[in-house]
Amino acid sequence: MGRKIQAVKGTRDLLPPDTAVWAAVERAARETFGAYGYSEIRTPILEDTELFVRSVGEGTDIVGKEMYTFTDRKGRSLSLRPESTASVARAFVQHGMHSAALPLKVYYIGPHFRYERPQKGRYRQFFQIGAELLGDAGPQSDGEVILMLVRFLSVLGFEGLVVQLNTVGDEESREAYRKGLVEYLEPHREALSPDSQRRLGSNPLRILDSKDPADHGVLQGAPRLEDFLNASSAGHFDAVCEMLDRHDVAYSIEPRLVRGLDYYTRTVFEIIAAGLGAQDAIVGGGRYDGLIEELGGQPLPGIGFAIGEDRLIEVLPERFRIEALKASLVAVAAVPPVSAAEAVALAEELRSENLPVLAELTDRSVRSALKRADRAGVKWVVLLGEQERATGTVTVRDLEQGSQETMPRGDLATYLRRSP
Ligand code: AMP
Repeated sequence: MGRKIQAVKGTRDLLPPDTAVWAAVERAARETFGAYGYSEIRTPILEDTELFVRSVGEGTDIVGKEMYTFTDRKGRSLSLRPESTASVARAFVQHGMHSAALPLKVYYIGPHFRYERPQKGRYRQFFQIGAELLGDAGPQSDGEVILMLVRFLSVLGFEGLVVQLNTVGDEESREAYRKGLVEYLEPHREALSPDSQRRLGSNPLRILDSKDPADHGVLQGAPRLEDFLNASSAGHFDAVCEMLDRHDVAYSIEPRLVRGLDYYTRTVFEIIAAGLGAQDAIVGGGRYDGLIEELGGQPLPGIGFAIGEDRLIEVLPERFRIEALKASLVAVAAVPPVSAAEAVALAEELRSENLPVLAELTDRSVRSALKRADRAGVKWVVLLGEQERATGTVTVRDLEQGSQETMPRGDLATYLRRSP
């Protein structure tokens, strides 16, 4: 016997019935985003490595340590996408979508890859549900993107989630702050954690959201980003907050929230969920006004978010999960000596009437057919025996109640459709 092969470390099989929950979450995303005028985009999972180096940034953990990068047979450096905003921006530039109706509103759902240490809520292949709005710089866009996100989460039944919000300012404010922060931190270099010492050169803003206690002391006296905001960045942020107030979105301003990626400008946000342990961020997002230009397009602003679908499903409200798992199937079984072929024919009749049906495909005893139907979570079993066949009737058994009744075959579809 051959060696059993396991799924690659950090990747998972999603199996039924769980996949029904995943499908229901994705259906809700499509519906909610559709209600805001978003359409789906599907970009390749493989991209030129340079795409992520130039957008996410070389100094970030994602690009520096976590990408699945390899050379293909022709020596090109390719990477499995660690996120999708860069891919969406690339597609936008590649297809000259500047001339399309702007803003462009797109969403995506799919697998992403990061070589991180696997733990609860953190996988090497994980799924993101994300949305991007390209071509509008105004604060109403930031506001509407967040409203859409909050609506989606409330459709899933989440309550009490708070959007953590901050601004990292525009390019000018961010640059001024970067200088101020490095000036302040440089004399304290020795007191910083090794990671933060490294980031001092590559990505100093990242030091702000360090979880290392060594850094917290040093950061106490650090200059604050809000003191470096120019008037336009501050005005933009105020307008976003006003819009969220107006729509009663629960948010808190987190001056230390900077997000790890290089391309963010102005608004950044995150949503944290209780019950996930260390990996508790379920959404990350923000504005990226310089990204399209960085990728060779005309300057064009953008904003978006990505939801970690694996984590979202780990903390999904029970009500939504139960609804998603409810089987709506009806089972049809033949009672010997009537053959299974007759059950299949009856199942096909019902499917033509738009009823989802599980047909018993093998000749077997009623007892074992009922047992199988019960294990499949089916409520109704339609039985077709010799007596029924002779009289043009069927017997419908309610597995929950243990009751059954016989009716004309022609009434069956209407009966099943009416039954709860
Ligand atoms: P980011 O692109 O890093 O802002 O990630 C957006 C969201 O994706 C995070 O808030 C997480 O919910 C999710 N996420 C990121 N990395 C992972 C991972 N390795 N495993 C599971 N979810 C992840």
